[in-house]
Amino acid sequence: MLQIFLLFITTGGIAAYARGRGGNPWLWGALSVAGHLVIQFLGGVVLGLLGRSRDANGPLIVVIASWASVGIVAFCARFLLGMGREKPGGMWSCKNCKYLNQHYAVISEACREPYGKKT
Ligand SMILES: [Zn+2]
Repeated sequence: MLQIFLLFITTGGIAAYARGRGGNPWLWGALSVAGHLVIQFLGGVVLGLLGRSRDANGPLIVVIASWASVGIVAFCARFLLGMGREKPGGMWSCKNCKYLNQHYAVISEACREPYGKKT
């Protein structure tokens, strides 16, 4: 239950990052959930194939691996997405709609106008 709750929180964060970086929040959110669930379900199978299904650390390794995949997705959404766009130095208000955007957002979250675009 705790993991589902944490996944919900982290996926919400990833979706917010993706949105602010000009990506598709649904796609990135789905990527995070899918990666996590696939490793959770297939982790035991993989450990079995490696002959480590009786390893006492097996379940822990699966949990760590599934969260690592969420971390990688979060990292990509935060830093790799929208890399080519002009970056703000802090929180910024959109020239177009005056919406106050987060420092990681390279496009206005309200109107999707890119940061630094002359209007
Ligand atoms: Zn705007």
